[in-house]
Amino acid sequence: MIAEIISCGTELLMGQIVDTNSATLSAELPKLGIDLYFRETVGDNKDRLASVIKKALDRSDIVFTIGGLGPTDDDITKETVAEVTGHTLELNEECLEELKAYFKNSDKHFSLTNYKQVMFPKDAYILKNPIGTAPGCVFEKDGKYVIIMPGPPREFIKMYKEQVVPFLRAKTQGEIIVSRSVKTFGISESLLGEKLKDLTGQTNPTVADYIGDGDIEVRVTAKGASKEECEELLKPTIERIESILGDYIYGYDDDTIPTLVKDLLLNNNLTISLAESCTGGLIAKTLTDYSGISASFLFGAVTYSNFAKMKVLGVKEETLKKHGAVSPETALEMVQGVEKLTGSDVAVSVTGIAGPKSDDTQKPVGLVYLNIYYKGEYHPYKLNLIGSRENIRKRASLTALNEIRKLIS
Ligand code: AMP
Ligand code: MG
Repeated sequence: MIAEIISCGTELLMGQIVDTNSATLSAELPKLGIDLYFRETVGDNKDRLASVIKKALDRSDIVFTIGGLGPTDDDITKETVAEVTGHTLELNEECLEELKAYFKNSDKHFSLTNYKQVMFPKDAYILKNPIGTAPGCVFEKDGKYVIIMPGPPREFIKMYKEQVVPFLRAKTQGEIIVSRSVKTFGISESLLGEKLKDLTGQTNPTVADYIGDGDIEVRVTAKGASKEECEELLKPTIERIESILGDYIYGYDDDTIPTLVKDLLLNNNLTISLAESCTGGLIAKTLTDYSGISASFLFGAVTYSNFAKMKVLGVKEETLKKHGAVSPETALEMVQGVEKLTGSDVAVSVTGIAGPKSDDTQKPVGLVYLNIYYKGEYHPYKLNLIGSRENIRKRASLTALNEIRKLIS
């Protein structure tokens, strides 16, 4: 079943209000096996709204409209849908009684303009709105449906979940969609695309990649009669992806690299200490976002200046002079220093050039050295990152966390 969403309201069109309802609905429809093909926003203008509804009914089986059910003159959705679908509106006595009862329990007053909110086609399927003044309804035209719902997000979500979902379930005969995500890090989108090119063309399940903040998610989506059937369809494709992408995969679904590292540290009773230069405490911030991490997080220092590198970590002046602050030698002395200071199980150092300008050594922006101490050994890493200062710092932090994950898992 193909669906389309139309958001109605000039304030949405002009960007004064963000259209959160469409995003909510878009994320919900796959759960019912409904394919969303189009989404549009239209201002409070009858002609333009009518033309958008007509076009939607030509190409989709279900059209959702959101908003424009208020009592004022610019709220015209219901009238316009009625006109396009050939229905006449009349007063719905039951809805009128409910609206009067609603006003009785509130400090607002019923006014004549509220009458238009309880006008519906004679045999319409009404979607009640116990927490607002505008009920919704379902209009039918030639076997297709226009489902109209109010704009206030609280009312919209309640109506959708409690009344529209059961209606749609009956129409879609229980077909559902199940997705699983394979999470990768350290591979470029182009290389990933090349490796998965045989899979991205297939239909059930489909395979699509989404670039995140430094990582790439490969989402595999199956459509079937039950969750079990979908899982069966997903399994061979996920196994193929696992064999193709191997070590680039760090987790699945809701996993994130920081969460996995946090869990590994806590579950294995490992302590960690950090000596950060170019990341300015970002790794420490990321780890301390988790409550309970104090059992593992022993120490974190932002040793950004040479002064701090020497005074706190014991990096030798001659090392800084000879090799520079951004060098594998300095990274090693930094991690040795912080490990000696704290005696933690895991120690990490990071030093690099975040840009946008290089330092006076002319080393390239994005050059980052990491060193991770674990089980008596030092593991050096050299990264050549690109992007803005913010990107480079984020990417360096995430790479450090990912390498920690690999070492301790
Ligand atoms: P309306 O039903 O058009 O009178 O909208 C009532 C109120 O709901 C608006 O003033 C907005 O605050 C809110 N609203 C309407 N449409 C949306 C939407 N698509 N997403 C989020 N909020 C909305
Ligand atoms: Mg409006």
